[in-house]
Amino acid sequence: MPRILDGNRVRDDIKSELKPRVAALVEGGRPPGLAVVLVGNHPASAIYVRNKIKTCHDLGIHSESITPPDTVTTAELLSIVEELNRREEIDGILVQLPLPPQVDTKRILLAVSPEKDVDGFHPFNVGALVAGLPAPRACTPAGIIELLQRSGIAIAGKRAVVVGRSDIVGKPAAMLLLHQHATVTICHSKTPDLPAVCREGDILVAAIGRAAMITGEYIKPGAAVVDVGTNHIANREQAARIFRNSPERMAAFDKKGSVLVGDVDPFDVVERAGAYSPVPGGVGPLTIAMLMVNTVAAAERRVLACRVC
Ligand code: NDP
Repeated sequence: MPRILDGNRVRDDIKSELKPRVAALVEGGRPPGLAVVLVGNHPASAIYVRNKIKTCHDLGIHSESITPPDTVTTAELLSIVEELNRREEIDGILVQLPLPPQVDTKRILLAVSPEKDVDGFHPFNVGALVAGLPAPRACTPAGIIELLQRSGIAIAGKRAVVVGRSDIVGKPAAMLLLHQHATVTICHSKTPDLPAVCREGDILVAAIGRAAMITGEYIKPGAAVVDVGTNHIANREQAARIFRNSPERMAAFDKKGSVLVGDVDPFDVVERAGAYSPVPGGVGPLTIAMLMVNTVAAAERRVLACRVC
């Protein structure tokens, strides 16, 4: 049986490590502060934001959510972000994506002060990532590295294959693996013979958004497989195909009418991999944990900068 890369355990360890850092900041004057901007009524986004706020609460991080309506303009959103940039007690700003079509998303993300950009999306911070300079890192990719390292998976000298080249997952994940001295290949929808390329990976990261696409023929025997995908399946036939050996998951499907599936076939990975991150319970829990790490680190940097000046 392959080893399970247990995201819940790693998240709990990270949260325990953050508690004394938060306490030190509180003792020094105030808790770290995170502001989340959630535009309109997007049910999935609302759940993500609720989980982020709850985790802040667990850790003693001050949090607030700003909820402008769906009709918000770029100018109105810019003024919200600028106000948050000015506020002393706010260390981190997160603008929950996607934004409505009338809003210029790039302008909004660019307006977030790079020091408060706890998502690591600002071009300054993307540049710092490429240059290997300290700065907030994108949360999901940073979580992938934590999951591998804290599970004892060696990265240096290994072949890593990342499927997906998005700005928020694939590209930064590849860059972080490179900084950890892996030899990295980035794949995408135009990569020829994807299974053969994936089979070169001692570490295979799937960040695609296609349910159970990565089947056994993509997996090098013994590889560490990190499944980033979060796909909600509502089609019973498709769910029955993916969970062909799991009456429990099908019972859960029948109860809810949908099921969460990663990008990796959940049965093939057990047959072929040496270690894998399940969905749910793998990478997912680490995204919020790394947001908390970025928020606390931003607060610490701002306190330090204050003492120096
Ligand atoms: P995007 O849609 O932005 O990117 C998907 C990438 O996959 C693209 O680079 C695309 O290639 C590639 N791709 C799509 N189809 C294929 C294919 N058939 N063969 C090879 N490559 C393909 O998605 P994200 O990066 O934002 O997210 C990826 C997955 O991770 C999603 O399921 C998302 O829900 C999940 N996710 C999970 C998070 C978590 O906390 N667990 C956080 C963020 C995302 P191309 O560029 O050529 O189009």
